Amino acid sequence: MTQYILKLFNTQTRKKEEILPSDGKTIRMYTCGPTIYDYAHIGNFRTYVFEDLLRRTLKFFGFEVMQVMNITDVDDKTIKGAIKNKVPLKTFTDPFKKAFFEDLKILNIEPAEFYPEATAYIGEMIKIIQDLLKKEIAYVGLDKSIYFSIGKFPNYGKLSRLNLKELQAGASMRVIADEYDKESVSDFVLWKSYDSVRDGDIYWDSPFGKGRPGWHIECSAMSLKLLGHTIDIHCGGIDNMFPHHENEIAQSECYTSKSFVLHWAHSEHLIVDGKKMSKSLGNFFTLRDILKKGYSGPQIRYMLLHTHYKSNLNFTFDGLAGAKNTLQRILDFINRLKTIKEEQEVCVVTPFIQRCKDEFSLALADDLNISSALASLFDFVRDINVLCDDKKIFKKDAIRVLEFLADLDKVIGCLSFNDEEVPQNIQEALDKRQIARKEKNFKKADELRQYIESLGYIIEDTPQGARVKKK
Ligand code: AMP
Ligand code: ZN
Repeated sequence: MTQYILKLFNTQTRKKEEILPSDGKTIRMYTCGPTIYDYAHIGNFRTYVFEDLLRRTLKFFGFEVMQVMNITDVDDKTIKGAIKNKVPLKTFTDPFKKAFFEDLKILNIEPAEFYPEATAYIGEMIKIIQDLLKKEIAYVGLDKSIYFSIGKFPNYGKLSRLNLKELQAGASMRVIADEYDKESVSDFVLWKSYDSVRDGDIYWDSPFGKGRPGWHIECSAMSLKLLGHTIDIHCGGIDNMFPHHENEIAQSECYTSKSFVLHWAHSEHLIVDGKKMSKSLGNFFTLRDILKKGYSGPQIRYMLLHTHYKSNLNFTFDGLAGAKNTLQRILDFINRLKTIKEEQEVCVVTPFIQRCKDEFSLALADDLNISSALASLFDFVRDINVLCDDKKIFKKDAIRVLEFLADLDKVIGCLSFNDEEVPQNIQEALDKRQIARKEKNFKKADELRQYIESLGYIIEDTPQGARVKKK
């Protein structure tokens, strides 16, 4: 069997590089997870679907993957939400955490091995900060918060290729907010000293006084603790590159004196009218908003999946309807194969399967080129449909094709192989209609069709016989 190896674009080196487990066994991968202060929007899910495609592809190629996705349950936004709603932090964040896991299931995103919550790792964060203070890389500010001195880390800016000298000329000395842009490149906060107005009664005790961690140290602490000092892949949306990932590198490498991440992978954004979908711009849809409009999890997943992760994906409802139709073509094909019952010892599909599998895998191996991988699947569907039209496909071959599609679906994750449950009364009416048609009793056949339609199903007459599906 051919061993495929994924060549993935590395944001740090700006080159496609092979992904192999550095410990010879398991690919260790960290994915920045949600901040649970609200429902995640489908822009966030574009990134999580990309990470899911990466994970599934590595597994499809035969590698073991150990993935961590953190849950940010303390930061500026969660604290603000808890205070505004006058509830404890956990009471505020828990429903959003629950919703997030429900959404992952709806989108058929494979579970990661670990979902650490930041609040359970405060001790680890304190340990790192103490070490950085001892090394005089971190310092206590006038506000008693602790800052990371970027001037002490010569590699600062290596990921986002910042020209530090130029940027620092006009920049402020330090920044306490979790999120900021390149214009504000400066020393960043590791520990925020307690402020009763800002923090209510949310704080942790530490050797440097009451307070709470900055957002960036959270990911470093969880990654180092769960995956070790040097990991294979670290992912996120491209907006995470600066400052979040840049700061993660600085803290972690100063703490361990080792390379933090071998391969950085960032996906481009889901955009609306040319702008990044985001809470702050208000141009977002949650998964729930889209489900309410009648779209299903697999249809939304397909829409988020089908464009290469390094291109912006422009969200429109027309685009979503297009994704729905495209997916339906594969599902119709699957249903068609399922109706083939005639048995004959002929086998014609093997070369088609082999070719499609090669093309599909090669496309994925080339920086997760999912659009090209899906194109090879559509070529395959077209070829096998022609064979079906020519009555050259019998039951054994149909089963082989279905098994092959199930194999590809380990990566795609949108194709349903469960037989759609057809209620008994509808199946009986369909059988009676078939008999009526055979007996040329078209009036009765028509009445039965109307009856089936009145129950929300439609009949499809295919060369292999009639079948029903939900309207
Ligand atoms: P946040 O909860 O804002 O930290 O975002 C969680 C993840 O979603 C991060 O990896 C972000 O980079 C990603 N993300 C946020 N907005 C978008 C978007 N419009 N398109 C793609 N990914 C996004
Ligand atoms: Zn992170």
